[in-house]
Amino acid sequence: LEKKPPRRLTILGSTGSIGVNTLDVVNQLGGREAFEIGALTGNGNIELLAEQARAVGAKLAVTADESQYMVLKDALSGTGVDVAAGRSGLDEAASLDADWVMAAIVGTAGLGPTLTAAARGADIALANKECLVSAGELFVGAVRAGGGRLIPVDSEHSAIFQCLDNGQRHALERIILTASGGPFRTYTREQMASVTVATARTHPNWSMGLKISVGSASMFNKALEMIEAKHLFDLTPEQIEVVVHPQSIVHSMVGYSDGSVIAQLGAPDMRTAIGYALTYPKRPKLDVDRLDFTRLARLDFEAPDETRFPALRLARIALTRGGLQPAIMNAAEETAFNAFVEEKIGFLTMADVVEETMERMSDCGSASAMDAVFATDIEARRVAATIIASYEKTA
Ligand code: NAD
Ligand code: MG
Repeated sequence: LEKKPPRRLTILGSTGSIGVNTLDVVNQLGGREAFEIGALTGNGNIELLAEQARAVGAKLAVTADESQYMVLKDALSGTGVDVAAGRSGLDEAASLDADWVMAAIVGTAGLGPTLTAAARGADIALANKECLVSAGELFVGAVRAGGGRLIPVDSEHSAIFQCLDNGQRHALERIILTASGGPFRTYTREQMASVTVATARTHPNWSMGLKISVGSASMFNKALEMIEAKHLFDLTPEQIEVVVHPQSIVHSMVGYSDGSVIAQLGAPDMRTAIGYALTYPKRPKLDVDRLDFTRLARLDFEAPDETRFPALRLARIALTRGGLQPAIMNAAEETAFNAFVEEKIGFLTMADVVEETMERMSDCGSASAMDAVFATDIEARRVAATIIASYEKTA
């Protein structure tokens, strides 16, 4: 019997929360014996990146931060790991011939390299939801043209992917995304107005990167996920529901035309979704917590409150308008998030900035080419920054 060559993996964003969990799964499933690691990429955390690259024997390590090139080069001298930096370095990482690429860079910065990997036909394990929000049709088109698979890593979308029965696709009525409600689920608007970054980043169930943690608190993460779901599963806006489920045990659900609802459950641990994306269509054996139903006191579900969490309403507007509106929402959200983290605006102002940016750019045209997406992304950031500056003056 001929031995199958080991799978070649690249992890874009290996130093982040998803990246570290991905390397943990890779190690659980045999590490260097079972996989070849092409490229690992990071941004500021050079020490961790170098340590990861050495441990797995990566071909290439890339820092997005050009000013850190020599630091990374020194850290990896004599190891045989190639080093690159900046945008061209990220593109080089995405271009290496890995057949499975984890897209786990945070934000729109991930779009370029993930597109490169998709276009050359790699299977894309997608954590970077911003790719699909700002360039949904184009991104899905690039994956299709490249011939690779697009496998969701976001826990909700992995759940739906696992619950979907392609033979019954015609009978699919709706998907139900679950949302934890975040740390401010029971706060009044008055209480939410004065929360700090430190409290906004403390998620009740999941341990994640800063942007997605704050996005969970504002429910902008769920807004992005609604648009992500539309593109991954080819849904109409009416087919996408959101329900608050504070325990984060039911990861999401699919409803069929006979009234059946299929759910995927598990402990809140991203390694389950990452492992499924790595071994799909098989399931790996993973050392993660098992659910003990005798100890799960209860599973609660409640309607989301769109007055306290306007993000969901804004996502529906973006979905209905289509075209470049989701890209505008995404760029404005990232800009507002940065301003909140820098303490320039309050927590609730983030949604105001996004809504106002979307209104000022409501006549935005269609997302027919990547150039238009990138240009609109830049313009929306500029408009959002102007709006933020006007809030700073009044504050
Ligand atoms: P993180 O902040 O922990 O890590 C982000 C990674 O991107 C790091 O490797 C960082 O070095 C790199 N990076 C940051 N800025 C960059 C830039 N300008 N250019 C290139 N690389 C850059 O984020 P995370 O929580 O791991 O999330 C990564 C992505 O996965 C996000 O899109 C997020 O929405 C999605 N996601 C995360 C989780 C989770 O549990 N953390 C769950 C679902 C989806
Ligand atoms: Mg999610």
